[in-house]
Amino acid sequence: MSSSFLKNLRRNISYRLGFRLAAWYASLFAIASMVLYFTIYAMLYRSVIAKDQEIVELQSREYEMIYQIGGIQELRRWITREEQIDPDRRYYLRLVSTRNSVILAKVPEDWLDFDGSDKKLFDFTGKEQFLRIPKNDEIDFALTTRRLADGSILQVGRSANNKETLLQPFRRTFFTTLLTVLLVGFVGGAISAYREMRPLREMVTTAGSIIDTGNLNARVPLGQTDNEMEELARLFNRTLDKNQALIRGMTESLDNVAHDLRTPLTRLRGVAELALSGSMNPEELKEALADCVEESDRVLTMLKTLMDITEAEIGVMKPILQKYRINELVQDVMEVYQYVAEEKGMRIQMNSESPVTVEVDPARMRQVFGNLLDNALKYSPNGSKVVFSIQQSGRDCAISIQDSGIGIPPEEHVKIWQRLYRADKSRSQKGLGLGLSLVQAIVSAHEGRIELESEPGNGSVFTVFLPISESRPDTENNPDV
Ligand code: ADP
Repeated sequence: MSSSFLKNLRRNISYRLGFRLAAWYASLFAIASMVLYFTIYAMLYRSVIAKDQEIVELQSREYEMIYQIGGIQELRRWITREEQIDPDRRYYLRLVSTRNSVILAKVPEDWLDFDGSDKKLFDFTGKEQFLRIPKNDEIDFALTTRRLADGSILQVGRSANNKETLLQPFRRTFFTTLLTVLLVGFVGGAISAYREMRPLREMVTTAGSIIDTGNLNARVPLGQTDNEMEELARLFNRTLDKNQALIRGMTESLDNVAHDLRTPLTRLRGVAELALSGSMNPEELKEALADCVEESDRVLTMLKTLMDITEAEIGVMKPILQKYRINELVQDVMEVYQYVAEEKGMRIQMNSESPVTVEVDPARMRQVFGNLLDNALKYSPNGSKVVFSIQQSGRDCAISIQDSGIGIPPEEHVKIWQRLYRADKSRSQKGLGLGLSLVQAIVSAHEGRIELESEPGNGSVFTVFLPISESRPDTENNPDV
């Protein structure tokens, strides 16, 4: 990944993503506001129109009633009185007889250019018709035409603001407000998106600096907040921690392997050189060859164990699981080491209440208990005792191996599981420092765990916990036995 790519990425994430998020939210908000605006607009318009119609129709009904009660004289008087009381009352009124002559008309100034005799005004069925006839850009004539009981026609009208006039102030205010809110929303959104994106920018910067400088110590500075971005940055840092530990472990392992291979290979080369020098008799030559084979075996075992550990640790080792009575497996291992124990005058004992069936790879499990028993015998004094105990512990089977040997100081409880680690005290014994790493890797591959209790001088107890097979132990067959 080139640094210019990282720079571009950084710029894109910092600015474009924040900008795009803010723009997205602002447009969503704008769309929602428009929908709201048009809904309110339509409702307002409809209610204004309905109100105009209601007012004109009420007035028309009032005139009809007066006409029916007091005739044309009374209606005329009523209108005159109305004008005296309220000169601003500007209703249009036109009463047309059955013979099509105008009986009464009152035409306010703003209705002078209205043609009340237009035929289409009378072309309706039923008792009444309401029309809005546009006068100009701002005003409509709101007119109701009513058929009276004697067949005459009563027209009552009123000037009404048209929808444009009514809604223009509303529209203007709405758009000004919308624009202000959008602007504030967009700027505010862009600023907060930029701030929220800080951990992402820091992550890109950190990744860039690790790639550019090779310094694995770089970490993303964490803020005080507790949101998803901070969590992502925290996880990113933890991933970097793990990678760094892994790389350190690999480097150390490689150093140790190189160091531990050098000794047997140098010895092997020395013996071979001596044999080639021609100074040895046949007996000595045979011994030299045997030494070479022994050293080669040591190197091969070491490499094979290292490969096994790596396989198990990276998950390539797939244990071939079988339901197996663990008591019998441990018994097998005890038999194999019986001879070694006898040589040291030691006893191996097994305490077990009842057989426990677990799903294990028998070959791998023999390696586990073989290594643990080998250590127990190696690091214990002659004549002492090693005890295996097998029991059920909840949903696990606990297999412990106890010795009364040299013990392990607390500060080494973690180190002994590392590859090629050997405590100083145990250097007198043969060993590669790989046994416990292999044990742990195989137990993990079986989804189990291993625990240690030990004190210097008081012996050690290693306990392996393995998940118990679902089926009942006493009904299980042991395929290998
Ligand atoms: P090694 O080949 O040295 O035995 P292991 O990985 O099996 O390698 O063990 C690592 C170290 O743990 C040993 O060198 C030893 O110091 C310590 N150790 C393991 N088992 C025991 C034990 N039963 N008693 C005391 N020390 C032990």
